[in-house]
Amino acid sequence: MSKDIKGQCLCGAVTVSAKVDKPRLRVCHCDMCRQHTSGGFYSIETLPDSINVAGPAQSFISSDWAERGFCSTCGSTLWYGMQHDGSRNLAAGLFPDAGGGVLKIEFFTDMCPAGYRLAGDHKKLSTEETTAMFAPFEGDAK
Ligand SMILES: [Zn+2]
Repeated sequence: MSKDIKGQCLCGAVTVSAKVDKPRLRVCHCDMCRQHTSGGFYSIETLPDSINVAGPAQSFISSDWAERGFCSTCGSTLWYGMQHDGSRNLAAGLFPDAGGGVLKIEFFTDMCPAGYRLAGDHKKLSTEETTAMFAPFEGDAK
């Protein structure tokens, strides 16, 4: 049974909503996510095509395959998105209590600074393992 979650950026100009099944969180420790957010990038798993974004959202092309959404008023991070199919991973921090999600997986753990390490027995993927998991998507973008 899915449920609707609603959130907003820091200033409230951008509102977001989506449907989630079991609320689960992912965190990416890659250098680009860390520069963009100053932390790991925490996103929440949503059902495909259930995401709605309203307000002054903009996006920045951050690589050959990805784009990153932000509020043009307050700069809050909104999403990490794929250019080839428009899919988006919404920032968990937009939602109250991060959507109530539990941490399921970490990506690029070998890029995670020592001071950012997370405890827990969730799945932890290295750069090699993360790249292997997403290589087909990157291939599709070319
Ligand atoms: Zn804002």
